[in-house]
Parts: sequence; structure tokens; C-alpha cells
Amino acid sequence: MNESDALNVVKGLPASGGAALGVSHVLRTERLRRQPGTPEEELELFDSARADSDAGLQELIEQSCDLGGEILEFQSLLLDDDSITGPVRSRIRAGESADEAWTAVLNGEISEYEKSESEYLASRSSDLRDLRERVLRSMSAEGLRKSKFDQGAIIVAEALGPSEFLEIDWSRAAGLALAGDSATGHVAILARSRSVPMIVGLGDLGQIADKSAVLLDGEAGSLAFGPVRQLEELHAELSSKSREDREIAQKIALKPARTKSGRRISVLINIGDPAALDEVDPRICDGIGLVRTEFLFAGGELPSEDEQTRQYERIVRWAQGRPVAIRTLDAGGDKPVPGLTVEGESNPFLGVRGLRLSLLNTESFRLQLRAIARSAELGPVKAMLPMVTSVGEFAAASEHLDAALAELKREAVPHRRPELGIMVETPAAALTAHDWPTDFYSIGSNDLVQYVTACARDNPKLARLADPAHPAVLELIGRTIAAAKKRGVEASLCGEMAAMPSMAPALIELGLEAFSVDPSSVGRVKMAIAETE
Ligand code: PEP
Ligand code: MG
Repeated sequence: MNESDALNVVKGLPASGGAALGVSHVLRTERLRRQPGTPEEELELFDSARADSDAGLQELIEQSCDLGGEILEFQSLLLDDDSITGPVRSRIRAGESADEAWTAVLNGEISEYEKSESEYLASRSSDLRDLRERVLRSMSAEGLRKSKFDQGAIIVAEALGPSEFLEIDWSRAAGLALAGDSATGHVAILARSRSVPMIVGLGDLGQIADKSAVLLDGEAGSLAFGPVRQLEELHAELSSKSREDREIAQKIALKPARTKSGRRISVLINIGDPAALDEVDPRICDGIGLVRTEFLFAGGELPSEDEQTRQYERIVRWAQGRPVAIRTLDAGGDKPVPGLTVEGESNPFLGVRGLRLSLLNTESFRLQLRAIARSAELGPVKAMLPMVTSVGEFAAASEHLDAALAELKREAVPHRRPELGIMVETPAAALTAHDWPTDFYSIGSNDLVQYVTACARDNPKLARLADPAHPAVLELIGRTIAAAKKRGVEASLCGEMAAMPSMAPALIELGLEAFSVDPSSVGRVKMAIAETE
């Protein structure tokens, strides 16, 4: 390759696999300045922008399920929230333009989410930013971003909100590269579920040429610019490799996972909203290693015991006899639930979250345990406790389970005792794993990595430092697996790390025999397992 043929490669971080060749389309965030009208006109503009934005959201909600739908519902509710619209109206009446007033109020909300209420989950504050931009676009009559893309565009942006992501026609756009964001953020999760190649953490967009031929490599986390012929060759190479991988992954997904030497490894799936299961074939997995039950609490209202039971039963029926680990509410930290989680914590990741919160709200905890026990009538259900640090917490949870079972028995409500296990997400739990009288362990590497490396999981600037392959993280995972083996119970791993094919050899070497991953990652993980001794 001579000098002029050299490719210019910009490194970011992988967020969603696949290779995409296209023309870079750098999204500019400036908006045309508008001449403000009278307060009456501005109020009218505000209301029509809200209505317009809500219509757009409703349209997207109809096409989305699971995480996507939940984010959009949250945004739609905020559009009608008096505590937001009231102050906007007051500011407009006091002489501000509709866009100034909306921006000021939303910025206030965002900084409250980030600052006082908890460094609020990056995801929720980014959902608010997304909503702010959506309404501003409606006000400035800027056309939808999707209409401006050329076929095959590689979208490059500072950041993108989940609703903006959902709005893009991904049959036209080929890939996504963001300056910020993290590989575990909402947009990355959406990109993976829709097989859109994506990279994050590009840093300064000044180095990105607009309207230039570019190859996005979602596996390597890079963008390559250069002569089209060379990019085409590289793309053909990467595509044929990823096509082969995909075909093998689809076939392999239906088979039990085995290592090269024939060792059987369980591959389980993680789910949120049970509706997502409608599109998943149960035969691809050995069970469900993590049901995130926060989806039931997202509206801020406590779901009734019957409603919870109905949802859990739906999941257990889907699993057709395979084990299902239902995690009790893991609110707080990066998953605040308005009205439930404690406000004003200076560091919510080290605050009242997970089981700590359940042990404060014992009534709703008991209700959830009852619903889990009722659903266990239909199949092998496990109850899983998030964010634990002391054996005393486990003992307290265990007592609540006993009491819930006794109540159900007294009331002659059909039920069965679920196994009770812990998530190993803190160094304290990992270091003392052998002491816990738990029925099983599930390693939550997303949190374990943040607590071991002291890198908040919602801080994209620390994404490189929050390394799941850090020896200290591997040490704690190894200790947990060893403790589980010694006690004769199962240890699985349900953080994002389980879905990284590159981590499979190290995890298997540590003795891990159960991986729990997003359904879309099952094939790739089984393939990585098959390539490991
Ligand atoms: C984890 O921490 O690894 C985990 C699976 O839980 P969550 O990502 O829901 O906190
Ligand atoms: Mg966790």
C-alpha cells in the first residue's frame, strides 16, 4: 500500500457488530433561529409542538417493543406532565420564546436528574435530552432527520437519543458512529437488537470528514476513510466473515453450547419486557438467567400482585420447563423509579438501590415475592436478589420469602418455593461468596466492573477504563465460581461481558458454565464457546 492509498482509521469503541460501507453523514445540531412571536403565538406554538412530538412518539411506540417502547412511553408522559408544562407556560407568558422556555425548563429537569436526584441514570437524562430536541425540532419546523439521509449513509453524531434512533429508517442508513455514549447505553442496546452496526466514543468529531466514503467496523470499533476501492475490498472481506459468522450463529443458536473439548455450557437469556419473548424461539436457550422486573415499575406505580403474577407466569409458560430467574426489583443507581427510589443521594450507585430498597419497602417486596412464588407453580422459578453486600441482607430477604410463603399457604393460594439466589455485583459479595447460604449465584458484571474499577457505568468518558478484562474483575469472578463449585450450586454470569465473544475463553478458563445474554447474542456466544477449549 503506498502513502496515497493509506487508510485513515479513526478509533472508537465497538457497540454493535457488523461492517457498513457508505458515505459519512455528520449530523449538525445547529437549528435555524426563529423570530419569536407574541406570548399567545408562542403558547400556541408550544402546544402544537407538543402535539406534533407526541404524535411522532405514538407512531414510534406502535412499532417498538421492550426497551424502545418503554423509553418512548416515558417521554410521552413527560410531554403532558404539568410540573414541566406549567413552568414552560409561565416563562412564555413572562416574555420568553417557546423554544427558550422549553429549553430552560428541560435543562433544569436534566440537571436535577443528573445532579441532585442521583447522577441520574445517564440513560434517563439522555431520554430527557432526546425529548428536548424532539420538541425543539417540531418548533423550528426542521424536517425529520431521516428524510435527509442518502441511501447507505453512515450517521455520525455527537449523541443520539433513543427516539431519534428509532425514527431513523435503518433500511436506508447503514451504520451509526457517536462521539460520546457508551456501549451499554440505551441507543447501543437498541442498535444491537436491530443489528445496526454501531461504534461509540469517537471523541472529537472535528476529525471526521463529512460526505466521504467510510467503512464502519462495528467489531473493531473503528471508522476507516480512504480510497473507495480499498474500502470496498476491506468491506467485502469483513462482510463475508460476518455473513459466515451470522449463518453459523443462526444454526448454532438452536444447538446446545459445547466447548471444543465437548464440555456442555448453559446459555441462558436476559429479558426485560416479556413482550420481547414473542419473537424468540425458546429452543435457543437453556432458560432465562435474568428477568429485569423494573419494566413493571416504570410508570412509577406499584404493580399489583395479580398483575406481577400474570407477567411472570407468561414468562414461565414461554420457557416451557426451562429455569427462569426473576430478579426482585433493582431500582436505584442507573435505574431510578420515580416515586420509589430515594431522591437527593449524592452517589446513587452507592446508595439505596436493589435489595437495599426492597428491605426498606417491605410491603412491596413481600408482594413481589408472593407473585414470584405463585408463578413458580408453573415451572422452575428462581428469585434473584440484586445489589447485596452482606449475608445479613440475604437472611432478611430469606425471612421475607418464608413469610410470603406462609401467607400464601394460609390463604390456600397455589404456589411453590422458588430457589433464592444472589447477584454478585459488589466486591464484598464476590470476596465472601463462600459464606452465603444462597441457592445460586449470578454474577452481574456490569455493576461488578464499575465497583471494582471505580468507573461509573453511565460515564462514557470512563468506558475504556471500565475494562471487564481487568485482572481484578477476573479474580473476583473466579473466586465466585470457585465458591459456587465448592458449595455445589450454580454460578452464571448475566452482565454484558457474557455477550462479548472475546471474553468467552477467559470466562470458561475461570470455570464459568452458564452465560446469560441478550437473545440476539445467543448464536455469537455459542460460536465463541465452540471455539474455546
Ligand atoms: C449487572 O449488573 O451486570 C446486571 C446484569 O444488572 P443490571 O445491568 O440490570 O444492573
Ligand atoms: Mg446490576
